[in-house]
Amino acid sequence: MPTKALLYAAEVHHLARHPEVFGIEPGEVRFDFAQVMARKNLLIKGFADYRHEQLKDGRFTFIRAMARFTDEHTLSLDNGASVSADHFVISTGSRIAPSPLPALDQVGYLTSDTALKLNSLPKSMIVLGGGSVALEFAQFFSRFGVKVTLIQRSPHVLHEVDPDAAEVIESVFRREGIEVFTGTKLLGATQSAQGKTVTFLHGTDKRSVTGDEILFGLGRVPNTASLNLEAIGVETEWDRIVTDEHMRTSVPHIYAAGDCTGPYEIVHIAVQQGEMAGYNIANPVEPRKIDYRLRTEVVFTEPQIATVGLTEKEARTRQIAYLAASYPFNDHGKSLIMNALDGFVKLLCDPVTGEIIGGACVGPLGGELIHEIIAAMHKRMTVRELATMPHYHPTLAEIWTYPAEELAEKIAAG
Ligand SMILES: Cc1cc2nc3c(=O)[nH]c(=O)nc-3n(C[C@H](O)[C@H](O)[C@H](O)COP(=O)(O)OP(=O)(O)OC[C@H]3O[C@@H](n4cnc5c(N)ncnc54)[C@H](O)[C@@H]3O)c2cc1C
Repeated sequence: MPTKALLYAAEVHHLARHPEVFGIEPGEVRFDFAQVMARKNLLIKGFADYRHEQLKDGRFTFIRAMARFTDEHTLSLDNGASVSADHFVISTGSRIAPSPLPALDQVGYLTSDTALKLNSLPKSMIVLGGGSVALEFAQFFSRFGVKVTLIQRSPHVLHEVDPDAAEVIESVFRREGIEVFTGTKLLGATQSAQGKTVTFLHGTDKRSVTGDEILFGLGRVPNTASLNLEAIGVETEWDRIVTDEHMRTSVPHIYAAGDCTGPYEIVHIAVQQGEMAGYNIANPVEPRKIDYRLRTEVVFTEPQIATVGLTEKEARTRQIAYLAASYPFNDHGKSLIMNALDGFVKLLCDPVTGEIIGGACVGPLGGELIHEIIAAMHKRMTVRELATMPHYHPTLAEIWTYPAEELAEKIAAG
């Protein structure tokens, strides 16, 4: 929520600075960074206060303390108390991953936690990493005038999405003035009067870049090290709590949910896993199994990048047969009206039955548009059914009918 509030402010600022295409003359657009942050803080406080109130409604005992297992049924709390229970659900989340270079620790860097507390903007920033957190911060800072350089290890940013989607965001970032290096290997970091310098291999070239700040976007790790899990026999793998499909750990009365168990660090999956753990503790005779078929991921850059179900990359790795079709936003009525021309939508379907097995939307409001495909996949719709479903004109959503029609025709033609 904090990063999304900031990104929305960055989007408004960006649009205000580039209205010419709509026949509007740009005036001088100024911003007050402290006010941008203050609005974010106020919103987040509102959400958090509401949650706290919910936890105080008498249905739960809510204790604020850090917990550590002393035996299989007992937690000792850092407020001096201890708590015993028949069952536990561990959901201690994740923390910033340790840095891969000791030199980085010496030079110092911002993280996604500390960057959210800045009171003023640096002039320049080096963003390490090309995952969703790194990309969102890179565009936010860049759109507020910070000179951003992004350094990513793999050949493309967002290494889990298909390269066609990653290429769109890389080209938009470059167009907006962000320097993007992919296919790199970090070598070192130093501090001088000019700022913080990161050295890296780009292909075979040794390069270095200097900035006022470094933002560490190299991932997070499960937050389990202080729970004393080894002593009570809860199996972990690189700090990740190992669970079965019922969200049960290796100790039968202890369950885990969310980032501490993975495999995806996404809020709705953490919620789904937590509910599953609770249900299965209450219904041990007929436990439910977690299902990631409708796994959805959204990156809230502009354009947004949203996926549900299978990507082409994953389908190929898992040797799942599929047909795919795409349609670009630069050839679609509503996105032309909005001058939102970057990106495309893509559908994947079973080549025989036509059932939709994956969707991707790189484009305007992608995080909203993907929900049509989540609903379609939830009901196991085919591309033909999606293509024949009425869509209002002109809307962004009607873009889905083009790849759906193309795939339905291909299947009908055998
Ligand atoms: C910058 C950023 C942006 C993100 N954006 C999105 C997004 O847009 N959409 C999305 O779906 N996901 C997003 N995520 C991921 C999302 O925040 C996590 O997947 C989600 O918060 C996981 O929920 P959780 O309950 O597992 O852990 P958390 O929300 O991290 O909660 C864990 C809680 O456990 C507490 N805790 C830890 N150790 C102990 C202990 N020993 N005793 C007691 N309490 C303890 C912590 O204090 C914390 O309150 C983002 C993450 C980051 C960092």
